[in-house]
Amino acid sequence: MISWQATRMYGVRTRPQLAKQFANEVGGSPVITQLRRRNIHEIIFRPLFASGGLALAGSIIRIYLRHDDRCSTNLAQTVGHELGHSFFFGKVAGTPIRLVPYGGWREEDFCEMFASMWLAQGTNREEVEELIFDSPRLPCGRYEMISL
Ligand SMILES: [Zn+2]
Repeated sequence: MISWQATRMYGVRTRPQLAKQFANEVGGSPVITQLRRRNIHEIIFRPLFASGGLALAGSIIRIYLRHDDRCSTNLAQTVGHELGHSFFFGKVAGTPIRLVPYGGWREEDFCEMFASMWLAQGTNREEVEELIFDSPRLPCGRYEMISL
């Protein structure tokens, strides 16, 4: 089995166990609460080469989504994927920082697994799709933002 530092750091043996642990940690609350618990307070739509991204912005974390992606399945998967990355960040003196060194393809693959598991939990998928498509969006430069 390929070992990955993050699984050892969180005291589990496999990536599915870690995904489940993370999903349980935020689960059972509305999606907006789950995102806020991970310091994610803004979702910003803008041009991107990738499907999404996570960025530190002072005391909060932002999720970036492609402004031209109108596919709810892609967007929900991307929100779940970026939420997965957020578990490798923590707050130190009020500022989010990366606690676990970036794990490259292992982390990317893990975040896809986490997203699928998380979206299948309760009403997470429906809530994310509602959030992305039905929330009022605020102007953010030339693009749009959802404030959580
Ligand atoms: Zn990623």
